[in-house]
Amino acid sequence: MLPVAIIGGGPVGLFLASCLSHSGIECRVLEQKQAVSDHSRSIGIHPVSLDLFARLGLSSEFLARGVRVAKGVAFDDRGRVGELDLQACGSSFPFVLIFPQNETERLLEAHLLAARPGALCRESQVTGVKDAGGYMEIERLDPRGRRSLVEAQFVVGCDGKRSLVRESAGIPFIGCPYQDGFIMGDFDDNTRFGSDAAIFLSSEGLIESFPLPFQKRRWVVRSDDGARQGEAPPRREEIESLLRNRIAHELRMCGNYMVSRFQAERFLAPVLYRNRIVLAGDSAHVVSPIGGQGLNLGWLGAWRLAEQLRAIVQGGRDYREGFATYSRKQRCAARRATRRAELNMALGRRHTGVFLRNSVVRLLLQAPINRLTARLFTMHGLYSWPV
Ligand SMILES: Cc1cc2nc3c(=O)[nH]c(=O)nc-3n(C[C@H](O)[C@H](O)[C@H](O)COP(=O)(O)OP(=O)(O)OC[C@H]3O[C@@H](n4cnc5c(N)ncnc54)[C@H](O)[C@@H]3O)c2cc1C
Repeated sequence: MLPVAIIGGGPVGLFLASCLSHSGIECRVLEQKQAVSDHSRSIGIHPVSLDLFARLGLSSEFLARGVRVAKGVAFDDRGRVGELDLQACGSSFPFVLIFPQNETERLLEAHLLAARPGALCRESQVTGVKDAGGYMEIERLDPRGRRSLVEAQFVVGCDGKRSLVRESAGIPFIGCPYQDGFIMGDFDDNTRFGSDAAIFLSSEGLIESFPLPFQKRRWVVRSDDGARQGEAPPRREEIESLLRNRIAHELRMCGNYMVSRFQAERFLAPVLYRNRIVLAGDSAHVVSPIGGQGLNLGWLGAWRLAEQLRAIVQGGRDYREGFATYSRKQRCAARRATRRAELNMALGRRHTGVFLRNSVVRLLLQAPINRLTARLFTMHGLYSWPV
């Protein structure tokens, strides 16, 4: 019998499979899509995740291809407010690595398949998960409409925010959208920021700007109009006019590679397991993308869960105890990440008290507090290594 079946071959499912195979635990990933999507949601890989990648022998390719952001510069309507030196975070990787999520998934997939050919089954849509008494039965559907069963001791739901696995386990997902809507787009980089991130605390709403590989740049712009329009597909002209009006930056002549809209939201499952089913990644928790923590939080959870699965499958630990430990620690990390994301969003909202807000930002950027701020913005403290 397969020890572990992972439902969902997104970035968290693929990473979890690599962690397990690194420990010699057999697993299979069932993924409904035929290939990695072309669209990239996440772009930031935090120092703590690079640390995990290094332990799996994965970090060098990421480091060779990503852009290292070691500094963030903050502006308000009147000019430069200050800068945040991420090198002060004290990690062995003192920067945030910018690397698009779809490329990340491709690297994780290649790494997994090099170690375990056959560990990933694409075009396998899971349609049901059932406790068969002492083991799990997973029903999957192939593109020709044929159904088959996979049996496993444990099922991990890495199937994203609308998780079927979570639903099958009857675990609720508690949370709601925030009032904050954003529009984001990738353009040719026509700024002078180089590898620095730039944050504009405009009185009309937050603008964030991050370097991407190949001289491109991502712009994330708070847009309440976007939130009101709901699902209306965004256009590049919307970002262009917001940037022109708020910070007098012109993107009209730049190549555009993607525009999309999102509403920030928060969700957390009250418990991350039921019997032999356990949740990881966005199926367990969703935090606001502002601050770029969601995927990194999923990886930290996958690492934590792999530790427990190792103890259960190889060490004979009671699975309920192992899953309860994972659930408690990961929920605690998710709540902390949520609070940090809320701080990020609060700083970027339209403010009447701009003077007060800017004074707080200046304080956060000044020594010796800047060290703490650098740690806060690089997800420091959300994982502690066993001694
Ligand atoms: C706009 C935006 C920007 C973001 N930026 C960042 C950032 O900079 N940094 C960061 O850390 N996070 C960021 N995030 C969050 C990040 O994108 C998510 O946390 C991440 O994608 C979660 O990964 P996952 O593997 O848990 O889920 P997903 O990426 O949703 O993957 C789930 C996978 O499961 C598969 N699946 C679903 N149902 C089934 C089924 N029934 N059978 C088989 N397969 C199934 C899906 O096809 C998919 O491949 C951002 C999010 C958004 C919306």
